[in-house]
Amino acid sequence: MIFEGLAEKLQNTLGKLKSKGKLNEKDVKDAMREVKLALLEADVNFKVVKEFVNKVKERAVGQEVMESLTPGQHVIKIVNEELTDLMGNVQSKISFASKPPTVIMLVGLQGAGKTTTGGKLGGLLKKQGKKPLLVACDVYRPAAIKQLQVVGNQLEIPVFSMGDKESPVNIAKEGINHALSHNNDVVIIDTAGRLHIDELLMDELKNIKTEVKPHEILLVIDSMTGQDAVNVAENFNEALGIDGVVLTKLDGDTRGGAALSVRSVTRKPIKFIGMGEKLDDLEAFHPDRMASRILG
Ligand code: GDP
Repeated sequence: MIFEGLAEKLQNTLGKLKSKGKLNEKDVKDAMREVKLALLEADVNFKVVKEFVNKVKERAVGQEVMESLTPGQHVIKIVNEELTDLMGNVQSKISFASKPPTVIMLVGLQGAGKTTTGGKLGGLLKKQGKKPLLVACDVYRPAAIKQLQVVGNQLEIPVFSMGDKESPVNIAKEGINHALSHNNDVVIIDTAGRLHIDELLMDELKNIKTEVKPHEILLVIDSMTGQDAVNVAENFNEALGIDGVVLTKLDGDTRGGAALSVRSVTRKPIKFIGMGEKLDDLEAFHPDRMASRILG
């Protein structure tokens, strides 16, 4: 489960504060040192940890807390609020176009879960009454188009493809035309990924962005890769500009460093989380619910 170690450590540390009754500044400082270590062990970005701990400390040694009858409880509340804030505070939704189709472009490294997420997102939107179209723009990985078609078939969502001989920009443009003539109000573009970020990949994504002007560029990153995922997010955001993140494989991530760092590093929200391999394992991301997984 995500935040396994972190939850245990934070609950322990903050529990000790609670049982103390009155607190002094040293109590808070000692506790914050433990919180800092626990966050670092959970693979949270160093700068993010530092900022977080300073913020909590500043609030926790304030008069209101120190003079309260339940100061430990107060500190827990502050940690909870700051954790929620770290992950974006409020739920961030897809912004739908006023004039359909809404075009969502999925980008990310190979293996992050783009194709699977494309299907899952289509399924989620279909359940909400939308008529999504999946567009297969990964012309490099031989099995990618087929994989998207299999996913589309399972979900009964149409898949637009032009094989692997056309340019991804053309496929994306034709995909949108297809959506217009077939009444599809959401277009989900599955783009190619590579093992590493490289200029060719970015150039291709930039070209697609320029040509089709997507309403949402969602970056798919693998939660289990921790700080690497956060670096990938920073790079994609700088090179391409993203609107949000889909954090996949949370079901296999026990630490949670990416979930806690990515928003703060990129200033872009996590919009969805992948919780498993099945096609309905995609959920909207709620920062407050995530925070309460940590503090119980
Ligand atoms: P792509 O190369 O980015 O398109 O990645 P794929 O969609 O092919 O996914 C790579 C692997 O990750 C596949 O085996 C997926 O089943 C798996 N995967 C994707 N999302 C999740 C998730 O949320 N949880 C788990 N456990 N596996 C996932």
